[in-house]
Amino acid sequence: MVAESEGAMPWPGSPPPQQPDLLRLHEAIAGLFATQGDWRRAYQHLRSALDIARDGSLRDALTSSYNRRYLDERLYGPFTDRQAARSPLGIALVDLDRFKSVNDTYGHLVGDRVLRRVADLLQENLPPDGFCARYGGEEFVLWLPGVDAGHAVRIVDDARLRVARHPWSELQPGLRVTISAGLAHHAPGSGTTPTSPERQLRSADTLLYAAKRAGRNKVAYHDAQTTQLMTHSE
Ligand code: GH3
Ligand code: MG
Ligand code: MG
Repeated sequence: MVAESEGAMPWPGSPPPQQPDLLRLHEAIAGLFATQGDWRRAYQHLRSALDIARDGSLRDALTSSYNRRYLDERLYGPFTDRQAARSPLGIALVDLDRFKSVNDTYGHLVGDRVLRRVADLLQENLPPDGFCARYGGEEFVLWLPGVDAGHAVRIVDDARLRVARHPWSELQPGLRVTISAGLAHHAPGSGTTPTSPERQLRSADTLLYAAKRAGRNKVAYHDAQTTQLMTHSE
């Protein structure tokens, strides 16, 4: 199947192409100042280059969302458990539904565009300090700090609806894209056993498979009162 050429439709929110150039520009200017013995200015530009390089190392090259390295820093970083003990946190694992057949039907370039657009849609309306990271392949993690369980469910289900209702056929006639998600929420002092973000991610993974088994295009989570599996659908 022939995929549409990359330049045909610009995707809002796709990685800014000028970023690597900016890095090289700072490097070149630093070199120029260094040859003139202006070490202060050379240092400033090297710092700017370093900041850009550091940010780039934590971003996914395809979608420009945060990458697995950034997620791992948040999951296993030195302050992670202490933060988790202090404030509520929702972690959702999101997976595109039947994405292999999107690649098989429309080609990998269209598949890549779908991934970029889904990442953009997932990044909308996150709470302050929340983020979206590409976990790998066609899976993303939503990190939702400071929100109660009901709010976390609404955020993830709204993201699911944004994806389902997106006008995908403008990209390729007949294209439809949906996601499934598993959401694990923890609030300190809520009477539930203390947990770590790492364990929450594992619960989210189990719930994601429940959402898939329940038919896809669903969010699965445990309700605070009944601890039963629930799914939302359109
Ligand atoms: P399910 O609903 O059970 O998740 O089905 P699925 O087809 O989405 O799952 P499966 O694991 O069988 O296929 C995932 C596909 O995602 C296969 C792989 O080629 C594709 N994929 C992973 N990373 C990328 C990428 O960066 N670009 C593109 N185009 N495809 C990717
Ligand atoms: Mg998958
Ligand atoms: Mg999938």
